[in-house]
Amino acid sequence: MKKDDCIFCRIANGGIPSRTLCENARFRVILDLGPATKGHALILPKEHFSDLFELPEDWCRDAFALAGEMASVLKEKLGCDGLNLVQNNGEAAGQTVSHFHIHLIPRYRADGQTIGWKPGSPSPEELDGVRAQICGENQAL
Ligand code: 5GP
Ligand code: ZN
Repeated sequence: MKKDDCIFCRIANGGIPSRTLCENARFRVILDLGPATKGHALILPKEHFSDLFELPEDWCRDAFALAGEMASVLKEKLGCDGLNLVQNNGEAAGQTVSHFHIHLIPRYRADGQTIGWKPGSPSPEELDGVRAQICGENQAL
């Protein structure tokens, strides 16, 4: 389903022009208008899913497979030194457009960008508690 009032639905389906790098039946890959670095691109599904929690499993597989392919293309064509995949879900996680997307951010030595977090320092007991909350009594999920 497409959402008329969703800007990424409109871009993904060609209703709003974009600098498209490639497209297929399910996705359009475009340049971000506010790039973190040269070549910052977005993978947009052509159907509306608000975030990863709404994305069906087969779309998820296709989206990340495409991310892998596009990462290689960007590395080859732009000669970047590294690349971050970023995928935000929910306002608390920094998502500003409520239509699932994957950021491909080519990285260059000394590009001045920081994508990261402040490391915490939980005790072993706290880590055990978190693991138990996620996995219960199981060895692993
Ligand atoms: P988020 O914060 O939701 O993970 O990322 C949204 C991204 O979409 C931002 O990097 C922003 O620059 C980009 N963006 C927002 N509106 C547009 C637009 O109209 N066109 C393009 N190409 N990028 C957009
Ligand atoms: Zn949408």
